[in-house]
Amino acid sequence: MNQDCSCPCGASRFAVNGKPIGRFFCHCTICQKVYGKPFADVTYFRADAVALPAGQPVEFRRYRSPPALRRGICAKCNNPVVAFLTMVPGVNVAFFPSQNFTRPAELPVPDRHIFYHRRVADIPDSIPKLSGYWPSQAHVTRMVFADLFRSKRAA
Ligand SMILES: [Zn+2]
Ligand SMILES: [Zn+2]
Repeated sequence: MNQDCSCPCGASRFAVNGKPIGRFFCHCTICQKVYGKPFADVTYFRADAVALPAGQPVEFRRYRSPPALRRGICAKCNNPVVAFLTMVPGVNVAFFPSQNFTRPAELPVPDRHIFYHRRVADIPDSIPKLSGYWPSQAHVTRMVFADLFRSKRAA
């Protein structure tokens, strides 16, 4: 997959090139705040899928630690554009708002609601829901390592 990812105002725009690892809905309170929505729709890739061009108005902030998730926010429209997480040294993941992609139909379907215990409202769909910090975190970690082992075998 190779497509553009852009914040709503268009000032923070870059290409994302690679295979998505997965997609989830995150109900954590930081996503609620950063996205300005009841929950975030997030698609994630290995971090080498993206190289932010110089001169982008992206400001990086850390809202909590650990984990050291660096959240990039567009300085012009104040919307999230990308977040980076180092899971273990050398394994870096990039998270993107799914709605920022120019062709969202090509993205995988969301497979989990995570941090569901923080939900603003119940979601009446059939997607599995994970409550609690560790189960939520563990799902994403498992997906990232499964992807890593798949690509190592293919290499
Ligand atoms: Zn979240
Ligand atoms: Zn913007």
